[in-house]
Parts: sequence; C-alpha cells; structure tokens
Amino acid sequence: MFSKILIANRGEIALRIIRTCREMGIKTVAVYSEADRHSLHVRFADEAVCIGPPPGKESYLNIPRIISAAHLTNAEAIHPGYGFLAENAEFSDICDASGFTFIGPKPHMIEAMGDKARAKETMKAAGVPVVRGSDGVVKSVDEARQIVESIGVPVIIKAVAGGGGRGMRIVHKIEEVEQQVAMAQAEAAAAFSNGDVYIEKYIEKPRHIEIQVFGDTHGTVVHYNERECSIQRRHQKLVEESPSPVVTEEIRNAMGAAAVKGSASVGYVGAGTIEFLLDKSNNFYFMEMNTRIQVEHPVTEQVIGLDLIRQQIHVAAGGKISKRPRRPEGHAIECRINAEDPEKDFRPSPGMITSFHAPGGYGVRLDSHVYAGYMIPPYYDSLVGKLITFGGDREEAIDRMQSSLDEMIVEGIKTTIPFHRALMRNDRFRNGDFDTHFLETFDWKSPQ
Ligand code: ADP
Repeated sequence: MFSKILIANRGEIALRIIRTCREMGIKTVAVYSEADRHSLHVRFADEAVCIGPPPGKESYLNIPRIISAAHLTNAEAIHPGYGFLAENAEFSDICDASGFTFIGPKPHMIEAMGDKARAKETMKAAGVPVVRGSDGVVKSVDEARQIVESIGVPVIIKAVAGGGGRGMRIVHKIEEVEQQVAMAQAEAAAAFSNGDVYIEKYIEKPRHIEIQVFGDTHGTVVHYNERECSIQRRHQKLVEESPSPVVTEEIRNAMGAAAVKGSASVGYVGAGTIEFLLDKSNNFYFMEMNTRIQVEHPVTEQVIGLDLIRQQIHVAAGGKISKRPRRPEGHAIECRINAEDPEKDFRPSPGMITSFHAPGGYGVRLDSHVYAGYMIPPYYDSLVGKLITFGGDREEAIDRMQSSLDEMIVEGIKTTIPFHRALMRNDRFRNGDFDTHFLETFDWKSPQ
C-alpha cells in the first residue's frame, strides 16, 4: 500500500479523499492555488504545496507544477478527484512516466472513452445499445443532413469534447440542421479548442440513469447498481439518488450487464460510470462514460456499504475487488448545495460565508469543505457541499432530506437550499414521476 498520496484537486472532493487516506494510515499532500490558502483540504492534509495563482490553468490544471509538488514531497501516488485533470489521458501518462501511480485508469482507457464519439463506437462494438446517429464525427453539413433525413428529427448535436451540460444543441426542424451543425462546430471550436461534433437521435422525455462500475488489475469488472440523475437544470445534475424509483431488478440486471460488458471490453480498471438514457418503453441507450469518481458517488456508497475512494486506492495499489454483487439496501438521496441564487436564475453567488450550521443526526451525511468565515472563490465550481440522506426506503430518505435542509444554515451567500426544500415537498417528485425535463416546468416558488 502507498505511504503517501498527493491529491490533485480542491474543495469537498480533496477533503473526501484526505478523510479516507487518514483512515487507511496514508499520508496526504494537498496542492492549492493562492485563492485556496485557507481551505480545509490544505489544513487537513499532512503537507501542502502552493502551485500557483487562482486560475485553473495556472494551478489545478498545471501538470508540471503538480508533478513537481509530488517529487518535492516524495508522494507515491496521485489522486485526481473529479473535474480538472481527472479525465486527462496525458496526465495519467505523465504521472506513470514520472514514477507516480495515477489513481485512475490508464491513458488508453481514458482515450477510448474520453472522446464521446469514440466511446459510442467502443460501446457499440461491445454490443451495448447506443442511441442511433452519426458514426462518429460528422464530416460535413451535407453528411449531417443525410443522417438526419434517415433518423428523423428531433436530433441532438453534441460536441465531442463537451461536458458538464455544455456543447449540445437540439434541432426540431430538418431544414435547420445545416445551419445548426455549422454553429455547433464554431461554438465547440471556441469553447473546447475542438470543433468536432456528432449527431444523435433526441430521445423524448428520457430518464438519466447511470451505472457505477469498478474494475481491478486482475481482470474483474463489477457494477454497483444505478443512480437516478434525471433532476437536471440545463443538463446539469442537481439531485441524485440510488436506487432509481423506476428501475426494476430486471432493468438493473440488464443495464448492469451492459455496463460491465462495455467496460470489460476495454479492460477497464478503477472507478467508472456508464451513463444511459432510459426511454418511456424501458429501452436504454449508452450516452457516455466518465472515467473517474463522480460527484454523486456517495449515494451509491450509502446503499452498498462500500467506501469507493478506498476501493480506488486499493485497486490502484494492485488489490483485488470482490465479485460478489452488492444490491442496494435502503435508499440514499443527494442534493447539491451550490452557491447560486435560485431567485435570480441560479446566478453564481460567491463570497464570504458569515454563518454556517451543518445538519446532522441519524442517516445524514454532509460532504463539504466550507465553514463560517470561509470565502467561496469565484474561480471554480460553485459547490458548497453535498447533503446526503439515507433511510429504509425512498420516502424516509426524502423526509430526512426535507428536515435536514430545514436545519441547514448558510448565511452571507445565496444557495440552492430553498430550491431543494421546495422540490422535496413536490408531489410529482415524491411519487418518482419525472424525467430529465422535470425542472423546466417546476416552479420552486409554488412547488405543488
Ligand atoms: P455532459 O457530458 O455535458 O454531461 P451528456 O452526454 O452526459 O453531456 O448529456 C447530458 C444530458 O443531456 C443528459 O443527462 C440528458 O438529459 C441530455 N441528453 C443527452 N443526449 C440526449 C439524447 N440523445 N436525447 C435526449 N436527451 C439527451
């Protein structure tokens, strides 16, 4: 086992990894930007190295500086968390070449899945159902039109390098395809320095269901059931739960088997997530794979009784994982508490937290890096924390979430807490009757 791990990240996930390392008796190294000097991950790690000014490019995305910090502190392994360099094949490669174990998949696995169009081809070849659409990148607007003529509207144009809900366009009229593809390409080139786009059939009113997979270096790949992530705003997840209120044992087995088959086809090692869309007739289609730990991993941990960060470290050190299936027991739900103002169209609301009270009690977990007096910097994502509750069944988990949200106090900035409080009281949400469009019609100010 490693004796020291460097965490190439910040915020709640850096803290989350430090906590597990401490339990395992592993020393930790935090890296931080000048904006994060007073962060808890810096305070709780055994050592901390400042790697540059606030902008990500000059700190958390700066590979040479992170590698230097690892050399300087004699770390043995590097955990990338999520975001920043977590799905960067080059970073995985450089870590290994510099003598540090990258706690995540090998570069070729990231490459096979990181590019969305290529991932679809990989999955299709493995026999996993994918959404109909272009075979890889669309080469011209003429080709785009031909594809849409054969699959029919509506379609969704997606940037190969897009992510986090960005780089997607829905087209409802065939005569708009050429213009929309051209615009999507230009937009993608500007935003992601890669103008490649592909096209797929737009599935009407789907649910976003994803499967947690795990592979080890001994050839075992298993899955840890699904997470329901349909509560989204502009394609960004706000609430996640496990199990899904609509996934039966039969669907779970079919989706789980497809996810394992697809991951095993690339010899996948480490934690990964296979995202599917589930349509009204319970057909499911592969959408993309995330080759890292997800923000929403705690809901899975709570219902299967396994620390997924510990398992990532165990696998990176060459350990075996158990083939025994882990069925969900009870129900867990997560609300993302963001520094955003729901009154003002969820505008970011960074600033100083003047007063803070964390909810607690039976079945309540808060993964957060903030405290009273903490300054939310404007440079990074707006996550204040993830509130997770669990109970014997979905209703109990939601009741507990409702009461925990009522108890939580964050003053000085605006947060999404009022939005979540309204959502937990909504009948359709409580009945599990929703799809990825739910929030388009949900008015959090009059939740019924
Ligand atoms: P990102 O990487 O930006 O998260 P995804 O490919 O995971 O992008 O898609 C994000 C969300 O966009 C999905 O959860 C779903 O709501 C919607 N979406 C993506 N593809 C389709 C599709 N073919 N049909 C309908 N909705 C889609």
